[in-house]
Amino acid sequence: MHRGSALLLRLAGQLRSHTYICICCGSEGDRRVCPSCLRTSGITESSAIKTAPAGPPIKQLHYCADYHIRTTTDTGPAIEDSPLAVALRRFKYCDDRRAGRALADLMARQTRALELEFDAVVPVPLHSNKLKQRGFNQSAWLAKAVARSAGSRFFPCGLVRRLSGKPQCGLNGCERRMNLSRAFRAQRDFSIYLRVLLVDDVITTGTTLKQAGRALFEAGATDIHCAVLLNASGPSQAHETASP
Ligand SMILES: [Zn+2]
Repeated sequence: MHRGSALLLRLAGQLRSHTYICICCGSEGDRRVCPSCLRTSGITESSAIKTAPAGPPIKQLHYCADYHIRTTTDTGPAIEDSPLAVALRRFKYCDDRRAGRALADLMARQTRALELEFDAVVPVPLHSNKLKQRGFNQSAWLAKAVARSAGSRFFPCGLVRRLSGKPQCGLNGCERRMNLSRAFRAQRDFSIYLRVLLVDDVITTGTTLKQAGRALFEAGATDIHCAVLLNASGPSQAHETASP
């Protein structure tokens, strides 16, 4: 190879300042989540975060992608976890911090596209037992990145769990509502932080977010939005075995 060409190639390599390994598929590229895995998860390059109605006191639910994807197999359509859902599980249950950073970046970027202003960003807190066991609150990771990106105040302990209820996993909608009734308490006066963005990793039935939103509302917040990474409350919710 000509010496000049070799030098140019080396310089081009250096200019590619960041080479990432996609957290979902392991391919090399310039993004933490490659375009193919984003597309498979239902996110196109230019798409903004999705928005859905939410019951009061929450004004709107914003979510980056659906938890499940539909694929067509020889035997007909199937529902499976999206690449992002697999990455989220690795973050939550296998302590994969690289996946956590990538998901937080993605959520911050998508949430910024809302062009809404918030006085405070608050994560849904974990049960203290679960926090001890896991060592971190995945929603707080996401919320911190969102707050930093939006230039909003971040209150990691804005809400606390009032009761150490049973785990939500395996309960039906009614049981979840009973289990979570009055489960959250605001730790500060939100009447001076009226516009609050509540952040969680996944929405399933929506009960957790509604109860957390109610605690914020009772503490004075009036303009409450929710942002989640993945929405598992869609039509594929019946796919209980793969719920997060
Ligand atoms: Zn990928």
